Amino acid sequence: MTGAPIFERMALIGIGLIGSSIAQAARQRGLAREIAISTRSAETLRRAEELGLGDHYSLDAAVAVDGADLVILCVPVGANEAVAKWIAPALKKGAVLTDVGSTKGSVVDQVSPHVPEGVHFIPGHPIAGTEQSGPDAGFSTLFENRWCILTPPDTVDPEALEKLSAFWRGCGSDVDLMEPKHHDLVLAIVSHLPHLIAYNIVGTADDLETVTKSEVIKYSASGFRDFTRLAASDPTMWRDVCLSNKEAILEMLARFSEDLSALQRAIRWGDGDMLFDLFTRTRGIRRSIIEAGQETDAPDFGRHAKDEPANG
Ligand code: NAP
Repeated sequence: MTGAPIFERMALIGIGLIGSSIAQAARQRGLAREIAISTRSAETLRRAEELGLGDHYSLDAAVAVDGADLVILCVPVGANEAVAKWIAPALKKGAVLTDVGSTKGSVVDQVSPHVPEGVHFIPGHPIAGTEQSGPDAGFSTLFENRWCILTPPDTVDPEALEKLSAFWRGCGSDVDLMEPKHHDLVLAIVSHLPHLIAYNIVGTADDLETVTKSEVIKYSASGFRDFTRLAASDPTMWRDVCLSNKEAILEMLARFSEDLSALQRAIRWGDGDMLFDLFTRTRGIRRSIIEAGQETDAPDFGRHAKDEPANG
């Protein structure tokens, strides 16, 4: 333990990559005295228990949140409403209720109507992840040197907000505050659009004739390989992200197609200056990302097979 725990009892509803990583980070850094875990399937619950991720285990989410002063929903975005309805009557007065969903507007719409009086609902999104799923994929350092965005309502209790912020700082993250709508717009360009482009490129390659397909795999190090990592991300999670951030994603896709048409035109008409200017500008963006400490300059980006950042 690194001092007094911030919360007495933390309940994690959903124990996949993110829930498991939170459990391990909180345990290692002494952020919660007790950890209660609930998940949908008996199989995942048993695995969480085998991995020793918590102190209490239940298939009943209402049992897990009983007496908890911190409840974190770690389920796919589209499952939040059903979970919120289920746990609402069992939430303790004064508890902090948060989530980790990759979109925020839809989570606010799904959860807010069910939050009882006296419970502090502060939506959140750790900008950290990998393309792996399930409790085995979690690791305690996932959130280190990453951002966690919280989208508190205007009426938020300052003490509850400070406790939740301290929890995320304790996991190694920097905390930023945003309006849910703004979060969804920013994430549409930095995360949702890149994933959709990756899904699309890999899908196109998969539709090619068999003989070409084998060459795609063989020569993938020329660029294709980097897209396949994003395109291997969890289908349930990304289906829910697309459906729940429809407006912002469509806006970014429209801008992307316009810019792609301009690029197409430059290639067709041999406009080398336009191509050179664009490629020079984009190189500068990569440099800024490295300088901001959000990536390393090492070959293969310094990533290890297990902890490649995907950032949902
Ligand atoms: P995951 O590894 O697939 O785990 C999902 C968990 O939610 C499992 O415990 C699963 O239970 C449970 N679950 C799935 N469908 C459910 C449903 N319909 N009702 C109730 N429980 C359900 O997912 P994850 O990567 O941890 O993602 C969890 C959340 O974190 C998502 O909202 C995602 O947007 C967000 N997020 C993900 C990343 C990332 O890179 N993966 C990054 C930041 C935020 P069973 O296994 O028992 O079925």
